[in-house]
Amino acid sequence: MSMSLLTFTDKGIYCAAADVYIDPWKPVTKAFITHGHSDHARWGHQQYIAQKDAVPVIQYRLGDINIMGISYGETIKVNNVKFSFHPAGHIIGSSQIRVEHKGEIWVVSGDYKVENDGISGSFEPVKCHTFITECTFGLPIYTWPDQFDTYQKINEWWSKNKSEGVTSILIAYALGKAQRLMHHLDPTIGQIFTHGAIENTNKVIRGQGINLAKTTRITTATQKSLIKGNIILAPSSAVNSLWMRRFKPFSLAFASGWMNVRGIKRRRAADTGFVVSDHADWPGLLEAIKATECENVITTHGYTDVFAQYLNSKGWNARTEKTEFSTETADGEKADNIEEAE
Ligand SMILES: [Zn+2]
Repeated sequence: MSMSLLTFTDKGIYCAAADVYIDPWKPVTKAFITHGHSDHARWGHQQYIAQKDAVPVIQYRLGDINIMGISYGETIKVNNVKFSFHPAGHIIGSSQIRVEHKGEIWVVSGDYKVENDGISGSFEPVKCHTFITECTFGLPIYTWPDQFDTYQKINEWWSKNKSEGVTSILIAYALGKAQRLMHHLDPTIGQIFTHGAIENTNKVIRGQGINLAKTTRITTATQKSLIKGNIILAPSSAVNSLWMRRFKPFSLAFASGWMNVRGIKRRRAADTGFVVSDHADWPGLLEAIKATECENVITTHGYTDVFAQYLNSKGWNARTEKTEFSTETADGEKADNIEEAE
């Protein structure tokens, strides 16, 4: 049997034929990066290659690195192995990476979602023999409601709070979720204020020529009276902080896929929870896998064993590989290394 096109080593997902790693977790010579979240784009590689819209955030986080940006669909050849990047719909610039060698095609999903959120690009199914997939929400209980119904619920919650003189605080992941929610908040209700961690990310994204909703950074000089009744976007690290307490009275809500599960909202001391995820739900994972027309599936992070077992029962050849990609958890979203300064 010939050597696998991609293997799992102690440094990361490795293509021996090209001597290239995909989202490696230890320093390597050449790294192809699916997206800017800190568990996929790590420090210490000699050379980085990512989709061009993902480059500014990676540079912001990692500083002076040697990075090249390429467009979706463009092919790079390394030792006769062809690599190309395809939209993953997860955050701005997020990609699935397609690898082709001697007629064999593998795709590494990175993180993905199949619904189009309006700013992260539309997930593109890529045909392959082997699909390496995340399965953060790989259990049948995770089925997302229609995202537009959820945006409407968020706007109604904000509007009601405003009419009662209460400030709305919406907790969202600083890179990805926050920008997506901003895009769907109704500007006729009021103003959007932001925690520094989110505004730092916004600044980088606006700097690359992408339009985002109008936001105002909260600083120590911002008057509380200007914020009252408006909405604040903040990361989960701000919950229960002194920073947050000064906005009382407020209503606190989380926007996360974990809000799908009863009990979590209470544990996180939220008044409300909205089910919004930047990962595929159970039907989304299955839809994505079917669309690749693959025979083999490798699950990397999330409910890997259960999901692989299910796929095997449905005729795929599925297995799990151990990686160091973090799974965002119900108790606190993964850290994103974007400075949480005001
Ligand atoms: Zn991610």
